[in-house]
Parts: sequence; C-alpha cells; structure tokens
Amino acid sequence: MDEFLNWLQSVEVKDFLECSAADVLFECAKCGQCCQGEEYIAVEDQDIERIAIGKGITQEEAQHVYTDDDPQKRSGVRMLKNIEPNNQCIFYDAGRKICSIYEYRPTTCRAHPIMNLSSDYGLVFNKNCPGAMHLADTLRKSKDDTSIKRKMERLKKNRQDLTKLRIKLYIHGQQRIGRDEHANETAQRCNIELPFDEIAFKKSCLAYLLLFINLS
Ligand code: SF4
Ligand code: SF4
Repeated sequence: MDEFLNWLQSVEVKDFLECSAADVLFECAKCGQCCQGEEYIAVEDQDIERIAIGKGITQEEAQHVYTDDDPQKRSGVRMLKNIEPNNQCIFYDAGRKICSIYEYRPTTCRAHPIMNLSSDYGLVFNKNCPGAMHLADTLRKSKDDTSIKRKMERLKKNRQDLTKLRIKLYIHGQQRIGRDEHANETAQRCNIELPFDEIAFKKSCLAYLLLFINLS
C-alpha cells in the first residue's frame, strides 16, 4: 500500500493523473470532428473484444465487420473502418452526432482529446477540439475563483487530502480507459467510496490542475 501511495506522487504517474483530472472536467461539444475526416482509430484485441461483447457477436465477427488491416502493419493493431460520405468512423451516428458505441468505444477514443502530454509543457489541449478549448478557458477563468483558490491552498497544506485526491484520479483514470475491475479493486483497497460526489470531485480536479499544470 505504501509503495502504491509513494508511486502516486512520482513523476512517472504525474501525466496520467493530470489527464484524468482534465477528463473529469472535459465536456464534449459533440461537433463530431474527431470521428470523421482524416482520423483513423487504431484498435487492439481488447478493444475488439469490448466491441464484440457490446454488440453481442464474436470477436472474429467484430474484427471482420468493423475493422481493417493497419496500413503500418503494427503487431496486434487494426483500424476501425471509415465509411462514406465523410470518411467517418463506422460507429459515428452522423444524424445524432454521437458515437453509437460510446459505452464500449476503443481506448484511443476514451483518451481523446486529452492525451498529448509532455513533461516540459504539461497538458496540451487539442486546438481542433471545441471541448478541449472550452476546458482550457474554464481553467484560466477559475484561477480567480475564491473557492477554487481556497481548495488549492487546502491541497497544498493537507497531504492527506492531496493523497486521497490522487487515488481518486488514479481510479477515474482506470475507469476512463475501461479498466473498471481494477478501478473497483483499488477503491476497495484504499477505502474510497464509489461513485464520487461529482460536484466536489470536479472542484478538486480544477484546483489540482491549477496547482500542477502550466497554462499558456
Ligand atoms: S472534437 Fe472534441 S468536442 Fe468535437 S466531438 Fe471530438 S471530443 Fe467532442
Ligand atoms: S468509436 Fe466512437 S468515439 Fe471512436 S471514432 Fe468511432 S464514433 Fe468516434
């Protein structure tokens, strides 16, 4: 347990926790840009398995119907098929502007658009994504919010609060990439109650990001 808690404070997991906090705050504007056009979604066996379960078909069928070979021939990687008229992902419902398999979408889609991180520059918001731009704006505006400032101070002073928040961010990060079982095990092991209080968690995530990332 101590080893896990120490690891949560390490540089190794920093980006993952920041991504997780940003994901809590992210709201998709449902513009559909990331599901059509030049984008191709790489899927691995676990993604195809998840889609197969969601669709109630075999993994072989899911692979055959919904995926193509990876043009780069990477081992174990295939691509979701794109279809006409807009070269959209086979699962994109253009009429409703939503993903038709949202609950069991691939890991890459779960991580989008908050995935481009670098230790030098911190969180990078995808400029083509209105939802990510809105989040960047919210963060800038929240810098002057008194209650968020108080929360930041508390996190700076109270190590236990910060550790608990890091555990929650780790749990949310695991849920985000579809590892629900591991997330539940971690919550149980760390005595964290699920689900989190959404409003309080969002506020903590705002404070956490403002404490740890550089906003350009
Ligand atoms: S580009 Fe961003 S806002 Fe638009 S659908 Fe994709 S995730 Fe949502
Ligand atoms: S699987 Fe869903 S979220 Fe991913 S690209 Fe296709 S429509 Fe978009």
